[in-house]
Amino acid sequence: MPSPTRIAGLVVAAGQGLRAGGGVPKQYRGLGGIPVIVRAVDALAGHPGIAEVVVVIGEGQEAMLAEAFAGRAVPRAVIGGQARRDSVRAGLAALDGHEAVLIHDAARPFLPAAVIDRLIAALASHDGAVPERLRRDSLALTAESLGEAVPRNGLARIQTPQAFRLAAIDAAHAAWPEGSEATDDAQVARAAGIVVAIVAGDPALDKLTHETDFVAAEARLASAMVSRTGMGYDVHRLVAGRDLWLGGVLIPHSQGLDGHSDADVALHALTDAILGAIGDGDIGTHFPPGDPQWRGAPSHRFLEHAAALVSARGGRIDHVDLTIICEAPKIGPHRPAMRSRVASLLRLPESRISIKATTTERLGFTGRGEGIAAQAIATIRISEDL
Ligand code: MG
Repeated sequence: MPSPTRIAGLVVAAGQGLRAGGGVPKQYRGLGGIPVIVRAVDALAGHPGIAEVVVVIGEGQEAMLAEAFAGRAVPRAVIGGQARRDSVRAGLAALDGHEAVLIHDAARPFLPAAVIDRLIAALASHDGAVPERLRRDSLALTAESLGEAVPRNGLARIQTPQAFRLAAIDAAHAAWPEGSEATDDAQVARAAGIVVAIVAGDPALDKLTHETDFVAAEARLASAMVSRTGMGYDVHRLVAGRDLWLGGVLIPHSQGLDGHSDADVALHALTDAILGAIGDGDIGTHFPPGDPQWRGAPSHRFLEHAAALVSARGGRIDHVDLTIICEAPKIGPHRPAMRSRVASLLRLPESRISIKATTTERLGFTGRGEGIAAQAIATIRISEDL
């Protein structure tokens, strides 16, 4: 049979379970700064063989879904049912024009592209395919049975996503006796006579169930993080008749900084330092100075945007260090307020924010009071492959 062309990803995320801790259903918990459900959806959506991803959420979870995907495209969502099978059926019913589907549990956020490759390849010869967690002692056996019809009774090491031709799995679910629960979709498929191929799974795909699973996953992610540093530098001219915004704080002074935005030179340097650490251009790339929408804009928006870009990559800011260079005003009295403001903008404890000030001994443009300069360094941790 020809390979299926339009393949959907269906992420089942309707669970209300709180036993993994964290106060929210586990699929909405953050893991290395990125919610579990976002990782599961991204893994499917980022694969070139997947045309669309639909998520099945629990009743009342719309707001949690929106929050989890804040700043990203929110996937199409349908409301699931009490039992997993009800949720899968609701999801299948929402698919339209797809030839095949990969049904995946949100609680398995680490989905290697190679597993998706193998599942899609198996659908060229089978109506269904599931990944099996490889064990060292069964490698030879599994390699031999790859892609073969291997009806087995034990499903203990079967993972998701499970791949099916859509018409076949639809029919299998319709034929399954109402009211009886199924372990997974492979069981439903096999009961309907579908030959389900077994492909190699991956240890990373194991389900997150308990708090210890989250702790282990966090540790694994942390060990794959590297430290990066970025620097920023900025200067703005002091003029009469403008407010002086510095470090996100309005400072009483005879002059203010001139610029297209509020000209907060300190926050601009910090923003550039953070953008530098992720190698994502500079403040002018993201907020072109000629763009009218940034006229008079408060600079905290630039800083928050840079911090959000770090979060979106699963990174975290470890520390920032800012030096403000001017003859006047005196920065010392305003330093605690600036530190507190920057900490709240970056959502970090103040212990990770350093703000310093210096003069240039009346030398140069800062010494003559013509302008204020600022320089900053940001240290972040981020996944090695980004
Ligand atoms: Mg600037």
